[in-house]
Order: sequence, then structure tokens, then C-alpha cells
Amino acid sequence: MLPLIIAPNKILRTVVKSIQLPVTNDIKKLAVEMSETMFYYHGIGLAGPQVNRDARIIVITTADGVSTYLNPEIIKTSWRQVDMEEGCLSIPGVFGQVRRPRRVLASFYTLTGEHRKEWLDNMLARVYQHEVDHLNGILFTDKAWRINQGQDLLAKYGLV
Ligand SMILES: [Zn+2]
Repeated sequence: MLPLIIAPNKILRTVVKSIQLPVTNDIKKLAVEMSETMFYYHGIGLAGPQVNRDARIIVITTADGVSTYLNPEIIKTSWRQVDMEEGCLSIPGVFGQVRRPRRVLASFYTLTGEHRKEWLDNMLARVYQHEVDHLNGILFTDKAWRINQGQDLLAKYGLV
């Protein structure tokens, strides 16, 4: 379990650093701790800066368990977009509508250091894009075209 960073915090607005390969035991341990933290807070995705790490690592809950993506990138996006409500563990109580591409071509490294390139769809594509944004200091409220809930909390989180 790692302490969760809540906005406003400088690390949430930082473009964080790439992870050096080969993957160290510290990074493997961090991936496990991030997964535990994500489950504890009932999240479906978590990015390094949300646990105060200046590192390009994200974990996402999938049908098969949890996937870890190191140095994740988005190479291509589908033309088709979908509009969906998002929230964020670092901005509790705030929910808003974000339009994002339905599919993304993801490029990343696994915990065993293998490079992968694969298309992600639907919910996985959605969470992946949200988490990659975190690595670039971007929060979903920057992209939301409407805040559905928690408008009154935005000032407290330094988001207005
Ligand atoms: Zn988030």
C-alpha cells in the first residue's frame, strides 16, 4: 500500500521520467504496490505520479487481472471517439464527461522488459489514455467538456 496523492500536488502536473531498462526489482515491487493501492481504493487504473513516483509506469485492471505498462505511449488513435464519464482517485468526488478515441495503438514495455505494440479497445483504451495523460501532467478535468458531479470541489483541488 502506498499513500495516494490528491490534487493539488506538483507531481500530478509533472511530465515524469522514463523507466530505464532492464526492469529492476524496485520497479517490479512498485508495480505490485501500485496494484494493491489501486484495489484498495477501488480504482481501475493508477499512474506513477499518483503514488508520488517520477516514473512512467501505469497499472490497469483488466478481465484477466492487472496489467502493468512501462513507458506507455500512444502511437495511433481511431478516428471514432466515444464520450464517457470519468473520475480519478486523485480528484475524489469529481466526475465529468470526456471524449476520447475509441481505440488506441499502444506501445509499451512489460514487467519482463519485452516491447509490445497492440491495439486497445473500449474500456481498456479509455483507462490507458487517462493514465498516459497522468504521466504527462494532464488530469481528466483538463479535457472534460462537462463536470457532472463535484463542480464545487474543483477550487479545493486547484483545478479552476
Ligand atoms: Zn486519474
